[in-house]
Amino acid sequence: MFENLSERLERSFKILKGQGKITEINVAETLKEVRRALLDADVNYKTAKEFTETVKEKALGQDVLNAVKPEQMMVKIVHDELATLMGGSAAEFNIKGNPAIILMSGLQGSGKTTFSGKLANMLKSKRGKNPLLVAGDVYRPAAIEQLKVLGEQIGVSVYAEEDNKNPVKIAQNAIQYARQHGKDLIIIDTAGRLAIDEKMMNEIESIKKAVNPQEILFVVDSMTGQDAVNTAKEFNQRLDFNGVVLTKLDGDTRGGAALSIRSVVDKPIKFVGTGEKLDAIDVFHPERMADRILGMGDIVSLVEKAQEQYDEEEARRLQKKIAKNQFDFNDFIAQIQQIKKMGNLKDLASMIPGVGKQIKDLDIDDDAFKGIEAIIRSMTPQERTNPEILNGSRRARIAKGSGTNVQEVNKLLKQFDETRKMMRMMTTGGGRQAMRNMGR
Ligand code: GDP
Repeated sequence: MFENLSERLERSFKILKGQGKITEINVAETLKEVRRALLDADVNYKTAKEFTETVKEKALGQDVLNAVKPEQMMVKIVHDELATLMGGSAAEFNIKGNPAIILMSGLQGSGKTTFSGKLANMLKSKRGKNPLLVAGDVYRPAAIEQLKVLGEQIGVSVYAEEDNKNPVKIAQNAIQYARQHGKDLIIIDTAGRLAIDEKMMNEIESIKKAVNPQEILFVVDSMTGQDAVNTAKEFNQRLDFNGVVLTKLDGDTRGGAALSIRSVVDKPIKFVGTGEKLDAIDVFHPERMADRILGMGDIVSLVEKAQEQYDEEEARRLQKKIAKNQFDFNDFIAQIQQIKKMGNLKDLASMIPGVGKQIKDLDIDDDAFKGIEAIIRSMTPQERTNPEILNGSRRARIAKGSGTNVQEVNKLLKQFDETRKMMRMMTTGGGRQAMRNMGR
């Protein structure tokens, strides 16, 4: 799986071998190769472009870690961005409800029927569910037969009405049947066509309206690359589905669908099919998929360790500076960068116990640091290390340079001074014990 992509990415990292650090020039060269590799893997053009832009920004904004070589750092950044591109963490799958209703959608041949069987089997054996498979494809008698054979293999009942040509009615009847027979989950397999077709879309839309499913899954053959992404887009416009199932990942897939679907359709991949057998199903984990694509897990963990260590060293260094009252604007801006690196301010604040609910409706501006940063960046290195020298004319110059005004500069300097005092109090006097306790 994705062999070619893995190989090409590995080759592009080699460009950084022997380089002292990541620079605008060598990162551009590397990322040109990364982008080509992605495009050759049939990744959506816009997705590939945005991906390399993000990686570039991250690579140039990284702290330089002595223990890590530039090519190793690049592996780690690309790895993390690949995982993010595919959705970050594994998506929820909702099977609450009695019966919980799962509606399958997708083109003919995508692997919908096979997947319905695999899912029923998995939920039965791993989640203790008592599922019912519903044959919603009323056009192909062979499809009903196929589902029945699958049901038999996994010991799951199949609901079908051979003479009924109305799939909406069949789905409604199946829910009745499930209630009467103690089935707590139903999986409705629907008719697919070889290409998008208005009648098929109307039909599945009507089923959705009639049964109000907990989950609508869109099944797509990963071998079809960009076509898969386009089909996903059209199904999503009509159905607003909850998640994607990528089948046939065991084949010679280039990776385009897996890597583009999330960013194009904005819906998570929830499951993958990795073979024709009924146990060839996996919950999709973006992180693990990124591991597999890059196959460089040891480098990724090496960089992670170095980053942790760097943070600790940095914290110790900072504490010393604070104690000696040497905390300056360089440290201040580094702290702002740290906070920004951790993500969205509102998310961060909401993780503080007891704060979560209160700030939910507050309007926290993620650009809150922008003015502050602009002011600090307009200071000379000397001014940053010795804020004491900031007299009136320097302040006026900084205000002009940063596009702010003298009042704002004064406000920041005052805040900085107070912060410094407070920090010193915390690390020296009685605050020290409090800080220690906080660390526990
Ligand atoms: P449907 O028309 O969407 O219901 O598709 P089917 O479930 O009938 O599958 C079409 C073909 O793809 C069948 O031959 C399946 O055995 C095969 N298939 C389905 N899922 C997978 C998979 O994950 N890997 C492989 N290799 N084949 C699969």
